[in-house]
Amino acid sequence: MNTFIKPIIFATMILLSGIPLISHASSAVSVDIFEGETATVNSYIFSNGKSLVVMDVQRSTAEAKKLAEVIKDKGLPLSHILISHGHPDHYTGMSWLLKTFPEATVVVANEEIKKDILGFSTWMESVGWLDAEPLLKPKSEKNPNGFDYLNNIHVLPTNTLTMNGGGELKLNTNYSPAEAEHLTTVFVDDLNGLFSSDLAYNKVHLWMGQGVTKNHVANWRAQLKEFKSEYSKRNPRVYPGHGKPADITLFDTLVEYIDDFNHITSTAKSKEQAMKKMKALYPEYKEADFLLKYSVDNHMK
Ligand SMILES: [Zn+2]
Repeated sequence: MNTFIKPIIFATMILLSGIPLISHASSAVSVDIFEGETATVNSYIFSNGKSLVVMDVQRSTAEAKKLAEVIKDKGLPLSHILISHGHPDHYTGMSWLLKTFPEATVVVANEEIKKDILGFSTWMESVGWLDAEPLLKPKSEKNPNGFDYLNNIHVLPTNTLTMNGGGELKLNTNYSPAEAEHLTTVFVDDLNGLFSSDLAYNKVHLWMGQGVTKNHVANWRAQLKEFKSEYSKRNPRVYPGHGKPADITLFDTLVEYIDDFNHITSTAKSKEQAMKKMKALYPEYKEADFLLKYSVDNHMK
């Protein structure tokens, strides 16, 4: 090939492939999504090209092992393991991740979330559920090798988590009890992205089971309405706790879902009938036999 044409073709190939010729030396935050199989729960891996932060870490050690491999493959140091709220589908993997990335710190946005996590694990151990997840058994006199919740979970001093090497995750915990008693959302300006944790689900049945009272459901609905008006101008991408990212019309869909759930669970003649009606209205929604079942159980006699 003509040596004059060669570089032109090369440059054209680069342009066509979408690789920028000039790389920007910024620390813009990007995100990768790890979609868990169990409960369709998401882990979000934030990167600024120099370090990583992972938000929420799966419901089992088995899934956390897969997540850890994905993080390792990125070849960057993991600085923080951020847990959004005290439900085990978001924190069970933390013990394995901490073993795999001992330089990382497990962090939560406030003291209440730390208490929620320890409270949930203490309860799970009391009913034998942690026999399947021995790494999560709390450290105690009887179990000195257990997970040290008090010393391993750190409460962040401010609502901004600055990544090593630049870029900010803006945390918000100013929410009434809804899906969980206390919960953290994250906003990332670089992404125009709202990481709603479990204030939003996408095509996955909402958890309104044990602990989610009628009042909490009402708070949740009100918060979704607020999100819609608060973010209508910014129009961010919404990254839910469960299911795929969406635009802000997701909040309208979820308000409708809650209205349908309230109506059906207050009028159906039996739990079976309520399940059937919800499944008929939301045929493509995941986790009917787990999330929906326990939600119906909790809201019907
Ligand atoms: Zn969840």
